[in-house]
Amino acid sequence: MILDKIEKLLDEVQNLNAHNAEEIEALRLKYLSKKGEITTLMADFRNVPAEQKKEVGMRINELKQTAIERINALKEQFETTEGDGPAMDLTRSPYPIRLGTRHPLTIVTNEIIDIFSRMGFVLADGPEVEDDLHVFTKMNFAADHPARDMQDTFFVEQSQTGDVTKNMVLRSHTSSVQARFMENSQPPIRIIAPGRVYRNEAITARAHCFFHQVEGLYVDKNVSFTDLKQVLLSFAREMFGTDTKIRLRPSYFPFTEPSAEMDISCHICGGKGCGFCKHTGWVEILGCGMVDPNVLEQCGIDSKVYSGYAFGMGVERITNLKYQVSDLRMFSENDTRFLKEFEAAN
Ligand SMILES: [Zn+2]
Repeated sequence: MILDKIEKLLDEVQNLNAHNAEEIEALRLKYLSKKGEITTLMADFRNVPAEQKKEVGMRINELKQTAIERINALKEQFETTEGDGPAMDLTRSPYPIRLGTRHPLTIVTNEIIDIFSRMGFVLADGPEVEDDLHVFTKMNFAADHPARDMQDTFFVEQSQTGDVTKNMVLRSHTSSVQARFMENSQPPIRIIAPGRVYRNEAITARAHCFFHQVEGLYVDKNVSFTDLKQVLLSFAREMFGTDTKIRLRPSYFPFTEPSAEMDISCHICGGKGCGFCKHTGWVEILGCGMVDPNVLEQCGIDSKVYSGYAFGMGVERITNLKYQVSDLRMFSENDTRFLKEFEAAN
């Protein structure tokens, strides 16, 4: 009886296996601790008939020895595996892994989206690699407009025949999203389109070959310039504080008529004049205007029934105004020391 039990245990311990230190310790407890199976077996030894004691004694010792050796071997194997190069990744971030922060441009974009969302604008999106038709033609750009020049815009593909649906560009503004949205829906339309845009510029502290825009479009019956002005005033006050004043200066864009550029009172000097606002008391933040009837017609909207306004702002510009980032290149360098400074604004 006891010999059968010994044989069975011997077979078991010869084939022991473990994956980590905890499992090895569990095996040691199971077989070799005070209440372990082998120890219990040794306690039973005194009940063995005298004539069997010698053989049983030898077999129990053999079993115990085998169990100790096997468990030690497992320990050693485990320790060796742990110490080997490939199993341990020394490049891994130490725990606790630190959380990153939102990029300042994301923070400001989200803030802009939030303000306009509360005024009923919905998000619209479109491709960054876009055809000439949506970037320029439907936006009322003349055939010889400088933006269509290779010097100003990144062309990805140009058709030999001048087909505007086959001339592909990295979009130079998010107005293409407006064109696509108007093509596929009828007023009332109230959208904002945030996104990355590209221009063929030398990279300096003040210019970059890509930047981010948020454009807005509202088309409905009886939309007037007054509506535009009030929406932009509300935006400026939410973004820069309730004391903020705005002023509109006449300007020109192909896709709006009349067009204007909007300044806000310098929030650093409160309008008195400082280095930041070049002592004018005003800083420029966006372009806007009433959607040119040609643009509405090109996009399938009846300009005799509907009118609309549009505006567009650079996210980098707004971020600079809010956080005084002096060098545009810092936004795309991914220097965590710079990004960490915006931790509190998250
Ligand atoms: Zn100022």
